[in-house]
Amino acid sequence: MISRHPSKKVLGQWLADHATPSVDQHVATCQRCSVALDDLATAETDGLLQAALASALEPPTDLVPRLEARVVERLDSRRVFGYMADLFGAGLETTRLLLDLPEDES
Ligand SMILES: [Zn+2]
Repeated sequence: MISRHPSKKVLGQWLADHATPSVDQHVATCQRCSVALDDLATAETDGLLQAALASALEPPTDLVPRLEARVVERLDSRRVFGYMADLFGAGLETTRLLLDLPEDES
């Protein structure tokens, strides 16, 4: 067994490409490094999720003017109502009140 533990940087690189046979052999037998790899993989996944979430929640820069101009039109569907409600963590009725929208005629 290889005595030296690879650095986190080396482990991270290995996680990305699995192209280092000596690390392959080491992590197969080293509990400590397999735990470190778990942490790295989790951190990487969290980072990707956060990036995806941030880009999903971040409106395009021109969204606000368009929303102001066409707010009723854009919110004229239950799907978008539900989405807004989820975003605000509020109920549908609360969202309707917050947005000062007319009652749904349907
Ligand atoms: Zn190790």
